[in-house]
Amino acid sequence: MSPLPKAVSQVDVWQLARKGETLQGVFALSGCARLLEGMLAQPVDRVVEWSLAGQTGSLGQQWLTLQAHAQVTLQCQRCLSQFDLQLRVDTRVQLVSNEEELEADGADEDPDTPDRLLGSTHFDVHALVEDELILALPYVPKHEVCPSLPKALVEAHGTDTRRASPFAVLADLKKD
Ligand SMILES: [Zn+2]
Repeated sequence: MSPLPKAVSQVDVWQLARKGETLQGVFALSGCARLLEGMLAQPVDRVVEWSLAGQTGSLGQQWLTLQAHAQVTLQCQRCLSQFDLQLRVDTRVQLVSNEEELEADGADEDPDTPDRLLGSTHFDVHALVEDELILALPYVPKHEVCPSLPKALVEAHGTDTRRASPFAVLADLKKD
């Protein structure tokens, strides 16, 4: 019934990492029920484009780099008009093979520790892409500059008010 491409779902991410391969795909935005929940109705031809690149490090660590983008229509919470936003995902995760590794010490404390993902031979790429797009959604969607705001208000927010440098003030004090 739908002319839109179906989701590619089952991927062997271990093989992807071992071979250093990249997969690409497109699926219909309308298939992302969790992402679209509570959102405005989206144009039916919207798609999500993604690529998933596997990599194996010199010590045998295995990585996935996920990139995805989709255009979504949101309602600006400042002026209440609709606007289009490009959601972009670019994330790198380390593959682990069991739950223990997933929860190993240091995963949360050390900001340098990469996010970990439980690998699978039939990994659901669609769900991962949707999860990451949800994380990329702005908490409060709004225009950078609302088109309908009065010009004076926009300029008041945008101008860099110049204040006297504290050093200049000190220099003045020393003169006394
Ligand atoms: Zn706005």
